[in-house]
Amino acid sequence: MNQDSTNIVIGVLALQGDFAEHIKMLEQCGVSAKAVRYAEELDHIDGLIIPGGESTAVAKLTDEGSAPIFSAIKAKIAPSEKVGASSAFSTPVNAMPVYGTCMGSIFLAKEIEGSSQGRLAVMDIKVKRNAFGPQRRSFESDLKIDALGSEAFPAVFIRAPVIVECGPKVQVLSAIDEGIVMARQDTLLVTAFHPEITNDLRVHQYFLGMVQEYRQAQSTAVRDSQVPEPAQV
Ligand code: GLN
Repeated sequence: MNQDSTNIVIGVLALQGDFAEHIKMLEQCGVSAKAVRYAEELDHIDGLIIPGGESTAVAKLTDEGSAPIFSAIKAKIAPSEKVGASSAFSTPVNAMPVYGTCMGSIFLAKEIEGSSQGRLAVMDIKVKRNAFGPQRRSFESDLKIDALGSEAFPAVFIRAPVIVECGPKVQVLSAIDEGIVMARQDTLLVTAFHPEITNDLRVHQYFLGMVQEYRQAQSTAVRDSQVPEPAQV
């Protein structure tokens, strides 16, 4: 984090799952973090984390239509104008960065293998739930993730999904034999594993870098919109 990280506020969707661990992790990264439960709260954050948990439970909330927060999140994610390609990714000025962990990745996926359960369906990925089978539900594995540096990342998988297909705009950041376990599409980031229950801050710091890019794209857009028209002669 190079500049101005202190006034970044990250929301963590707190309807279900391990949101408290993400909040602690974000605080350790030096940013403010707050639990988000209502649509209005999305207006006061710079980025959102959707934690791990049980996707069928959250899907039920969407099916019941009891949570206007889902349509509000979708509206914040869906970009209509692309501004600023600061890296291999574009940072749409009006697309709030969102990081989905495990269940969060299922919830962001356009497709879930063999299921039509409720989800946001915003990222061009197809996921397979519980991809490691019942007998190998939880395990830890050292992952090579170039985007995080040369040191392996201690990834904890808990009844995890994998990404089995992704669209051309999706960059694979880490894959194992069973499938893709970390990926990014512009302002969307997903991991099949749970960095929030390790002591390694690097995935959260990577996401905060995306949030900084987004804020820069926003302030550039505001500045450009304020440039006066040249005087007519
Ligand atoms: N297996 C869960 C699901 O399908 C995800 C588990 C997790 O988030 N750790 O929703």
